[in-house]
Amino acid sequence: MDIITVRGIVLREFPVFENDKYIHVLTQEYGVIEILVKGGQKLGSKNAGGTQLFSYSRLSLRTGKGKYYLDSSEPIQLFYKLREDLERLSLACYFAEVACYAAGQHEQKEEMMRLFLNTLHFLSNGERSCELLKCIFEMRFMTVIGMMPDIVCCPVCMTYISESMCFDLRTSKLYCSSCYKAGFDGEQIVVSSSVVKALRHIVFADYDRLFNFRLSDKSLKLLGSLTERYLLIHLGREFKTLDFYNSLQ
Ligand SMILES: [Zn+2]
Repeated sequence: MDIITVRGIVLREFPVFENDKYIHVLTQEYGVIEILVKGGQKLGSKNAGGTQLFSYSRLSLRTGKGKYYLDSSEPIQLFYKLREDLERLSLACYFAEVACYAAGQHEQKEEMMRLFLNTLHFLSNGERSCELLKCIFEMRFMTVIGMMPDIVCCPVCMTYISESMCFDLRTSKLYCSSCYKAGFDGEQIVVSSSVVKALRHIVFADYDRLFNFRLSDKSLKLLGSLTERYLLIHLGREFKTLDFYNSLQ
């Protein structure tokens, strides 16, 4: 058995045996890993804070044969305000389910951690709306795992921006209105130039600016339906946590 130390965010917890629990943790070092927490179900256990859902913690682990066992934990940040608001909590659960499903298979672990921590920060402190955070997380997540949409310009005529453009969810391309001649089959979305600018911002902006933009309610709604459908189509599955979040709206 080796002893390692990781920093990670608890994405999921579930009980096993009489007193123990498993946690799934997004780490910078190893992607998403499953850790057995001995006594994790006991109230007041010394690891209760550091292993609770959405805590960002320093974890000391014993590892061998691909399994991880918790030795000790020390919370860095708890995002405790998430628990005060069902909508925000359920959105965090959706982000966690998406990350558990797709984040482990990809190399950009450092960026994934950054995206997740930044999103939880704004989700917890309430300084950004759920609608905005959902758009940002969905599209930036897809970008981080290598499914970046091709939105620099129209692939036919190289037009950078026009009053309205058409995003094709399936091919991930953005056409200007004069080049998009094919019939609509429900997998294209016509978007205004402000939605195009917001999309480009989400995909390309540095983290210190990523969460700093505004859109009208109407444009935000359109952007939200685009980013959600894009994620679902390209990950090829549904998420129960998303259905629950949407049922609250
Ligand atoms: Zn064009």
